[in-house]
Amino acid sequence: MSEEQSEKRSGEAPSVVLTFMNEVASSPRGEGILYCYQCGRCSSSCPVSRITPRHNPRKLMERIILGFKDEVLLTDLPWYCLSCFTCVDRCPQGADVGEVMFAIRNMSVEQGNVPKELMEQAKNLVSTGQVVPITNLALEKRQRLKLPPIEFASREVVQKLLRQTRLSKLT
Ligand code: SF4
Ligand code: SF4
Repeated sequence: MSEEQSEKRSGEAPSVVLTFMNEVASSPRGEGILYCYQCGRCSSSCPVSRITPRHNPRKLMERIILGFKDEVLLTDLPWYCLSCFTCVDRCPQGADVGEVMFAIRNMSVEQGNVPKELMEQAKNLVSTGQVVPITNLALEKRQRLKLPPIEFASREVVQKLLRQTRLSKLT
């Protein structure tokens, strides 16, 4: 979903699903939502929050707690986190907000909400074994600079792993 669509959606009255917090808490990596008491230390230490007001971990936790399921899962909100885990270090409750981000991303993907840039990278991974395939031009340049050759993971091995994680079904 584009940022424009997300903004449009956020202008609508959000629907509330009272069980949403428990859904997140019982999904893999989502338990931390149960411990958040909304102090805001995560937001004050988050590097992404300094750059864009769209990402605010405390507010995101609040939306989950209050049950704004569509507003969280069907917009761009789950996809800003860099997984730096500064918030995890700072949280006085051990609420694992960085982990909760993974939980809502998984749920978001199940709803078909994946940014097209990430989908492109997933397709690359499935078809080539690399997230960003290296070009022949770059390889030649490495040779000219006498840099050591790059050892690539076997494409077959990567594809086997992706089949087992079911990522290949997405692409
Ligand atoms: S620092 Fe922890 S308790 Fe405080 S708002 Fe963030 S997640 Fe919640
Ligand atoms: S893990 Fe995500 S939410 Fe937490 S501080 Fe880093 S970028 Fe912000």
